[in-house]
Amino acid sequence: MNLEGACTHIQDVPKLKHASRRECEDCVKIGAEWVHLRTCQSCGGTRCCDSSPNRHASRHAKASGHPVISSAEPGERWLYCFPDDNAVEY
Ligand SMILES: [Zn+2]
Ligand SMILES: [Zn+2]
Ligand SMILES: [Zn+2]
Repeated sequence: MNLEGACTHIQDVPKLKHASRRECEDCVKIGAEWVHLRTCQSCGGTRCCDSSPNRHASRHAKASGHPVISSAEPGERWLYCFPDDNAVEY
């Protein structure tokens, strides 16, 4: 994705991945609730944001080394890179 202000991780995202389901796949397993959803741009998994009690998206990023998420919320169009703490709109 060639976006202004994008770090190399975001530039390396070939094509935007969208959430296949409107739920956090890890919260569903444990019966937890979430606030907002994010989609991993490496594997396409959708997990909950840092305002959610379990913060599965950032935990997944740390555990897997997948750097970039997108917002999976309707109307939000941005990508975020964890290692660079870099957010860009698209
Ligand atoms: Zn980056
Ligand atoms: Zn979750
Ligand atoms: Zn991932």
